[in-house]
Amino acid sequence: MKRNDLLNEFSTLFFPEVCVVCGEELLSSEESLCLGCMYKLPRTHNYREKNHAVERLMAGRIPFERIASFCVYTKGGVMPPLIHQLKYHQRQEIGLLLGRLFGEDLLGSEFLDPVEIIVPVPLHPRKEKQRGYNQACLIAQGLSQATGLPLAVDNLIRVVYNPTQTTRIRTQRWENVRGIFRVTNPDAFAYKHLLLVDDVITTGSTLEACGIALGHCLGVKVSIATLGEVC
Ligand SMILES: [Zn+2]
Repeated sequence: MKRNDLLNEFSTLFFPEVCVVCGEELLSSEESLCLGCMYKLPRTHNYREKNHAVERLMAGRIPFERIASFCVYTKGGVMPPLIHQLKYHQRQEIGLLLGRLFGEDLLGSEFLDPVEIIVPVPLHPRKEKQRGYNQACLIAQGLSQATGLPLAVDNLIRVVYNPTQTTRIRTQRWENVRGIFRVTNPDAFAYKHLLLVDDVITTGSTLEACGIALGHCLGVKVSIATLGEVC
């Protein structure tokens, strides 16, 4: 047994891994989530539907092909502790796991079929350095592992650090989201169907801002996938 394995065995003896949601001790076959909580994930399956809540939320704001969210994000539900641990407690494996589960759902669907490249919503480099990783990138990696689709993580970049958020009227908000993101090499995305990936959709302003930037790529098509939806 290697030293690291020995240390792992030792630490799980005294600090057993527990489910992020319910706190129950995990079986060795389980990862971050116990099977019970995994079954309780409030999946929307809205990738099979048209005119659902998030589609209505984004309609008319940017051109997009399809939009889907993996789960409903409700207070007291399964999703908030997962997203919280992913974003603020260094639990990168949660992003990979949920991305993979979402990808397995989407596999073989009409939603995924035309998609060619997965593009995570970027963080500003300063923010990514602070956190140590980009959670949307981990979700995108999980999606990529499940679907075999390639990732593009460097082409869409965030150039504005912290825009003031959005309880404004539509025109002001539009001004507010313009220019936050930029595509460094528009040719690489020209005539491609992209799947833009984020953690949770609430107002949709971040995705709108990304959509505006991606709109500068000739003939590009954009679909959107988020882990959670608050609407
Ligand atoms: Zn659990």
